[in-house]
This record gives sequence, structure tokens and C-alpha cells, in this order.
Amino acid sequence: MTQSVVVQVGQCGNQIGCCFWDLALREHAAVNQKGIYDEAISSFFRNVDTRVVGDGGSISKGKICSLKARAVLIDMEEGVVNEILQGPLRDVFDTKQLITDISGSGNNWAVGHRVFGSLYQDQILEKLRKSAEHCDCLQCFFIIHSMGGGTGSGLGTFLLKMLEDEFPEVYRFVTSIYPSVEYHLYPLFLIASLLMFFPRKSLFDIISKIDLMVNSGKLGTTVKPKSLVTSSSGALKTRHKKPFDAMNNIVANLLLNLTSSARFEGSLNMDLNEISMNLVPFPQLHYLVSSLTPLYTLTDVNIPPRRLDQMFSDAFSKDHQLLRADPKHSLYLACALMVRGNVQISDVRRNIERLKPSLQFVSWNQEGWKTSLCSIPPVGHSHSLLALANNTCVKPTFMELKERFMRLYTKKAHLHHYLQVEGMEESCFTEAVSSLSALIQEYNQLDATKNMPVQDLPRLSIAM
Ligand code: GDP
Repeated sequence: MTQSVVVQVGQCGNQIGCCFWDLALREHAAVNQKGIYDEAISSFFRNVDTRVVGDGGSISKGKICSLKARAVLIDMEEGVVNEILQGPLRDVFDTKQLITDISGSGNNWAVGHRVFGSLYQDQILEKLRKSAEHCDCLQCFFIIHSMGGGTGSGLGTFLLKMLEDEFPEVYRFVTSIYPSVEYHLYPLFLIASLLMFFPRKSLFDIISKIDLMVNSGKLGTTVKPKSLVTSSSGALKTRHKKPFDAMNNIVANLLLNLTSSARFEGSLNMDLNEISMNLVPFPQLHYLVSSLTPLYTLTDVNIPPRRLDQMFSDAFSKDHQLLRADPKHSLYLACALMVRGNVQISDVRRNIERLKPSLQFVSWNQEGWKTSLCSIPPVGHSHSLLALANNTCVKPTFMELKERFMRLYTKKAHLHHYLQVEGMEESCFTEAVSSLSALIQEYNQLDATKNMPVQDLPRLSIAM
């Protein structure tokens, strides 16, 4: 069995991370009712002897073992981490694996990257090495952060470079929350094995859709009172909800499904490295579009499951994507279907055959499917499906990003905030724009092959 380490950076990263650990613990508790530390749990948790040996060799009484998340928590403000350490999950985190400061990065990527990057480099490296030492076979780093502030974006990207240098063989799965801030373009080109990005407005869309389902009366009273994924304007307003709870719950649920194969044993498990191997044919095209179905698995509902085939159809519909995008009308480079619950492989195969004619795959990867079955469904549900697609439908998001960036950049608006940080040069911005233009161009070239008969497709020629 392999292990993974979650590195949560900045306020957003730590809040989503916390939500992930909470859900993971609940999921393991439902399956492993005797609380036995087994291989499945060891993939994301350590079992730590918490007894203290006194001076004379005496061993303290009380709880012998405690589960600790394989996590490193980093924030350049201490508020959120302190809150975590006082909250219900306080015992889950190893206090030796935290790094905090008090001044914050002032929502400035350059401060997080340049100032705190060099200041905390050694400490971060030490914590990362320690977390790796605690693993028998470290396979993957999951990095969770937002691109909107300074720490998650700046220090987060700094950390990614460190991971690449220090642990080149370990996969880096990045979960990025995107605001609609234009200058946070630079960190987009992360050194990731795989990147799932969620513009905030897309998460809002999903929450509205779930709200609509709840308020339409279709799910009605079957929604449990403590459900998180309803907006504050929804029917299920609870007094202590924080503004980001619903969004964070969606992303944490996605991570829960993504890691289910690694966290539970199963006949057709997909190793995390297989996801990257199968979905990323070119390192620069590592952006994935995801959908989670049924959407109500994100809420706590007691309703009969939707028909299985419907779940597969939904996974490819525009309405279920966690990024505003339409994969069905764009080109697939590859697609992974991660199914959980009581579903047979024949069901998966049948649905792939059924859906195939309506989907376009690149000519050189017509059979670019990867599937996994984890028999353990999300708590309270019979089955669920996470679809991950490497698809050219991400292109409009990049085009929009570039357009908004250029609107500011041509006026040099706000640039001084970044350039006043030592080590920051304007070339960072020009390089970012040219990388983004090159990326859009790559997707354009792929799109141009859509609907082209095989004999008309360009042949590979070797550069001189
Ligand atoms: P950092 O601590 O400097 O990395 O900054 P934040 O994580 O606060 O990032 C700032 C952006 O993330 C802003 O656009 C916030 O509105 C947003 N944000 C902050 N916390 C959360 C969160 O828990 N979830 C989500 N989805 N967004 C958040």
C-alpha cells in the first residue's frame, strides 16, 4: 500500500483540507467500525503512540494511540490554523507539522512567493521530509490552495517547485480555487502532475443548482438538517455556517472520491499514479475538468438513488461539471471514471459503450478510458461517480483569463504592488502571458483535429 501527504497552504487551502479530513474520518468510521488501524487507513493517516516517556522511564497513562493526518499545514497568518487547533479536529493534526506566521501575505502573490518563500524554505523542506519519512512508500502529494490570496498562491507555487526538486518521483496533485482576480495568472503554470482548478463562480453555480433541486421540492424534506451544501439563501440555512462551507464541501467531496481507491481496498482500484499516467499525455496539458454525480451526494439526502445509467449520462452533461465547460462538445484527450458503491464493471462498460458515440476523443487515443471501482460508497449513498476529463473545453476559461489579465496589464494597473517586492520583475508577467498564449494555441491545434477524417490528420514529423 502506498501513502499520500496533503499539504494545505493559506486560509482557503487549510479550510478545504480540514473539510477533507473530517469527511475522510467519517467515511473510515462508517467502514471500519472497530477502529482498527489497517492498510486502508494508513494511506492517509498515521497511527501514533501518544504516550509520553518520563525521565525515569515511566510511561504516561491514558490513550495509547492516536490517528494523525498525513498533513502539513502552512499559513502566513495564524488565525485559521489556530481555529483548527481549537476545533473538533485538533487531535488529528501533528503540531510538529505546522508552519504559521502572523503578518500574512497581504493578498499579494509576490509576497508569498518571494518573501515567505525564501524565509520559510528550510522549515517547509524539513516538514516535507519528515512527512515523507513517516511513509513506507510515498506516492503522492496533494496540494490544496487558492490562487486568490498571497500565501496559497505565492508560497503554494514556491512549494510546488520545491516538491519538484526534492521529490521528483512523487506525484503532485494540485487543487486550486480560482478567484476572478486577473493578476493571479502567473502561478497558473504550476509544476503539477495534475491540476484540478475550480473557479469560484463555477462552485457558486453548482451550489445554486443543488439549492434549486432542494427548493424545487424534488428532494424536499428528505434533506437532512445538517447538510452543508446549500447556499445561505437556501432552505437549510443553519446559524453557524461559514461563507465558504458549501464550496469547500464540494471540493472536499471531490478529493474524497478521487482518493477513495487509495483509501479502500477494492477489486478494480485505480492507483493515484495511474490517474496521472492515463490522463496526462503531455506534461503541459495537465488541467482536468471534473464532475461529481449524483450532485445530491454532496448533500445529505434520503432519497432513492437515481438510475445508474442516468448517473453516467449526468457525468458528461454541462450542468454537472465543476468548471463552466462543456466537455461533450469539445475534444477528449482522455477520461477517467471513478465509480463507488455497488456497481458492476459490466455496468461501467455498458455505459461507456452507450455514451461513446456522443463523445469525441482525439484520433490517437480513441480508447482513452480509465475506470475504477471502489466498493465503498460515500456515507449515506448507494453509489457515486467522479468523472475526470482531460478535455479541450478548458480553453475558454484560459482565454477569458488572458483577456482579463491583458485588460489590466496594458494599462499596467496594480503592477506596482507586485514589482515593489524584491526579486519581482516585469518579465514574470510577460512570461506568464506567453505561456498562457502557448497553452491556448495547443488547445486550438487539438480542436482543429476535431471531426477530421484520419487520412487528413497531420503526420508526426521529427524536428531537425
Ligand atoms: P491566503 O491565505 O493568502 O492564501 O489567501 P486566501 O486563502 O484567503 O485566498 C484568498 C481568496 O480565497 C479570496 O478570494 C477568498 O475569498 C478565498 N477564500 C478564502 N478562504 C476560502 C475557503 O475556505 N474556500 C474558498 N472556496 N475560498 C476561500
